[in-house]
Amino acid sequence: MKIAILSQDASLYSTRRLAEAGKEQGHQMRVIPYLRCYMNITSSKPSIIFNGNPLENFDAIIPRIGASRTFYGTAVVRQFEVMNVFSANESQAISRSRDKLRCLQILAREGVGLPVTGFAHATQDIDGLIETVGGAPLVIKLLEGTQGIGVVLAETYQAAKSVIEAFRGLDANILVQEYIKEAGGADLRCFVIGNEVVAAMKRQGVKGEFRSNLHRGGEAEKIKLSIEERTTAIKAATAMGLNVAGVDLLRSNHGPVVMEVNSSPGLQGIEKATKVDVAGKIIEYVVQNASKTDDTKELIKY
Ligand code: ADP
Ligand code: MG
Repeated sequence: MKIAILSQDASLYSTRRLAEAGKEQGHQMRVIPYLRCYMNITSSKPSIIFNGNPLENFDAIIPRIGASRTFYGTAVVRQFEVMNVFSANESQAISRSRDKLRCLQILAREGVGLPVTGFAHATQDIDGLIETVGGAPLVIKLLEGTQGIGVVLAETYQAAKSVIEAFRGLDANILVQEYIKEAGGADLRCFVIGNEVVAAMKRQGVKGEFRSNLHRGGEAEKIKLSIEERTTAIKAATAMGLNVAGVDLLRSNHGPVVMEVNSSPGLQGIEKATKVDVAGKIIEYVVQNASKTDDTKELIKY
């Protein structure tokens, strides 16, 4: 098969591993920096042009769209969809996952366990907002944050109030969330492909840090999930419409709760911690499902 990895940087671990794994399985792999593509949007012959040449005859794409490049990145993915090329994750699902609030609303609708969460922009009713999640201590998050930046633990009511006021002054959208203290500064990253959790790790924040992000110095180790955790992760990915997803769970005393669902989950941390060939499994999934689309095309044709 001919597979494109949409990534701005061919030297990134995840991009390299996907390219390697694809080659090992006998496929033709190409890394395409999607920001450098342009598109011809016509119904007769929709195309994507890169370096002056149309990108043709691809069987599948694996989008690795950066969080700050969602708009253009998903447009390129959508254009491949218009051209009937199978995508590991659909453009629509990628967009959906990039909005933390939308993500939580979709999961809530599907009955997935979540931390109690409030959402606000410029409310005057700070007391009411704090009460919604059961008072302090609580976690306050900037809607647009990643890698733990913009996630604050407010231990007291006063601290919560001043942080909310400060964020309101910045004209920001904020999430206010029940603090899952019993998680002990750790979360679980479940790597979902199709209907399966193929690898899982526990990330533990450094001492005294409630955020477990590896970017904040957290450490990861392989972990065995409970059946409930496994089911929750799969249900979350399915609800988001993602075939490949990193689902982050917290172990709360009311069962596993989902914090976020990532549509371009990194491979380095999880492969290192679990020794699972996650890249290889992504390729297998893509190959299997891209050929399924081919079959349906045949059916339509005849
Ligand atoms: P980001 O997108 O920046 O990674 P997260 O929502 O994942 O933001 O939060 C970062 C980290 O903070 C999480 O990995 C988790 O360890 C911790 N955390 C976030 N929300 C809560 C919460 N409600 N209770 C306890 N810990 C939390
Ligand atoms: Mg996170």
